[in-house]
Amino acid sequence: MLKDLKRDIRTCDVLGIPVSCMDLDFTVRLLETAMEETTGYHVVTLNPEMAVMAAKDDGFMTVVRSADLVVADGIGVVIGAKLLSGKPQGRVPGIELASQLLEYSALAQKRVFFLGAKPGVAEEAAANCILKYEGLEVVGTHHGYFSEEQDQEVIEEVAKCSPDIVLVAMGMGRQEKLISSYRNLLPSAVWIGVGGTLDVFAGRVNRAPQFFQKVGMEWFYRLVTDPSRIKRMWAIPSFIFRVFRYKFFG
Ligand code: UDP
Repeated sequence: MLKDLKRDIRTCDVLGIPVSCMDLDFTVRLLETAMEETTGYHVVTLNPEMAVMAAKDDGFMTVVRSADLVVADGIGVVIGAKLLSGKPQGRVPGIELASQLLEYSALAQKRVFFLGAKPGVAEEAAANCILKYEGLEVVGTHHGYFSEEQDQEVIEEVAKCSPDIVLVAMGMGRQEKLISSYRNLLPSAVWIGVGGTLDVFAGRVNRAPQFFQKVGMEWFYRLVTDPSRIKRMWAIPSFIFRVFRYKFFG
């Protein structure tokens, strides 16, 4: 039962954010159970850039801290959590979490909505996932390029389709704030912010080869294949500095 699983969750305080220490298998089981019991969930897949953003922006920190579950998506968060707690720390890449929950949704006849990415991408992602996961029911898709004034209207559209799970791929910050503000329109669904995952599902962006994934260098592969991400990389030294300061001075 969900409440038993929830009791088992250990967390680590990473710069003021309670990050789950649990691994991918546990997290998948937890969210499958949440879907079985139609208990809504907001999952944040945390990377170092987001942790730094939250440390600098109180509003975003409140959003992240109010999520039901924060998982360590980036290897940087895993290392930071280990340094801070000295305990084992699971890694839960958002794309793998999403893939496993799609597999489960296909088997358990759960309804899925894809929200985000450039126009056309969510539809391509849906078509590919339906081929990959036999029986998958994608009940709706919507691109992620709309203004904040349109947020409520778009989420009302999502809610009308009554999905059990909504993958929101609109980039860090934007997707978490959107989910936090409007998930009450569909409180029984599992909402996950998944960054660039729909681009990968659609085949528009390649995921890093296994080698880079295994050694925790997926971020490096993404940087080399998309050098515009260099701006975001400045958050990494800031994250490391903050982790050490947090460890020694609180
Ligand atoms: N995106 C979107 N709406 C926006 C800005 C971005 O839907 O207003 C999409 C973008 O097309 C891409 C995803 O959000 O598919 C962001 O991918 P990224 O890898 O940068 O994710 P992050 O690492 O920021 O979570």
